[in-house]
Amino acid sequence: MAEFTVKTQSSCQIIDITELVNAHIPASLKCGICHIFCPHTTAAITVNENADPDVKHDMLMKLDQLIAYKESYYLHAEGNSAAHLKASILGFSQAVPVINGALDLGVWQGIYFCEFFGPRTRTVKLLFTTAEE
Ligand code: ZN
Repeated sequence: MAEFTVKTQSSCQIIDITELVNAHIPASLKCGICHIFCPHTTAAITVNENADPDVKHDMLMKLDQLIAYKESYYLHAEGNSAAHLKASILGFSQAVPVINGALDLGVWQGIYFCEFFGPRTRTVKLLFTTAEE
């Protein structure tokens, strides 16, 4: 198991953490799975295109459009229901294959840490499991 922190700079932000995750994978893991978990209720982990940075922008814009910051029916007293909703929609973990000590992602894929109630210092936890080759 491993963990690292991510410092986000704005209220809503998507950060590519692919290389950070790769840096923590044991070289001895020849064939397995890296579970990437976000232990927060207003942030998420997803996998998407990391070639064109505009994809991050478009994802954030669409989430803003789908989930209003304020709704008359929101009851949550902390006032950040939109952040909780966005986080649950994207989810708090991903499981990615590992081959020879590195993530076995698709050519265009990266792992994104998604901040929805920043800026904050966040934690990402990694758990490695070995699979049969
Ligand atoms: Zn809250």
